[in-house]
Amino acid sequence: MTTISTIDNDSASGQPPRADAALLRTEPNRNCPLCPRLSGFRDSARAREPEWFNSPVPSFGDHNGRLLIVGLAPGLQGANRTGRPFTGDFAGDLLYATLIEYGFAKGIYQARPDDGLTLVDCLIGNAVRCVPPQNKPLPAEINTCRPFLAATIETMPRLRAIVALGRVAHESTLKALGLRSSAAPFGHGAIHPAGALKLYDSYHCSRYNTNTGVLTPEMFRRVFATVRKELG
Ligand code: SF4
Repeated sequence: MTTISTIDNDSASGQPPRADAALLRTEPNRNCPLCPRLSGFRDSARAREPEWFNSPVPSFGDHNGRLLIVGLAPGLQGANRTGRPFTGDFAGDLLYATLIEYGFAKGIYQARPDDGLTLVDCLIGNAVRCVPPQNKPLPAEINTCRPFLAATIETMPRLRAIVALGRVAHESTLKALGLRSSAAPFGHGAIHPAGALKLYDSYHCSRYNTNTGVLTPEMFRRVFATVRKELG
């Protein structure tokens, strides 16, 4: 079982850090250097917006929950600014309203991390913990950050359901679970058995997807209605 803790990559040896087994933890250090491009982007955001979070965004919610929601990566002015997944941009408006509707969150979502919103039986994380330019992480960055996702999955003892928001989250979650993507192709509304748990696919709840009609709030609600029915 992977230990839940924060890694500290500030090596006194001067050697570059490695994403090896010794570094497998659920939350990276705030200065995680494993993806040079994202680390540089983070540093420039810190210089430009020193009041923003500008660090790997930790998962939010209940590590003892039965549901894990996996997003893509922090949005520049959303989670990267506020420090809580899906908080402060459009995607959070739809996600948190839906979670409240289906009993996976309680309180009032006010787009800020101190709004008192709590998750119920549910944890939210991202496939990539640092904000990427244009919301597009590179394949190597998705791979490099996957150990944190895998460790998160491994350290949820009651996990029964994972909702993957978008293709990148779906593919990275499959790999974290040790499954082949050919056996479980991404599709909105698809449900993939994965041992003791099930993986549910949804289009990402981004503003782009909702504005273009790729994802409607009703389509999104149906995914969580199915999960709610399954979990009871
Ligand atoms: S994306 Fe993940 S692995 Fe890459 S620098 Fe950020 S926290 Fe580290």
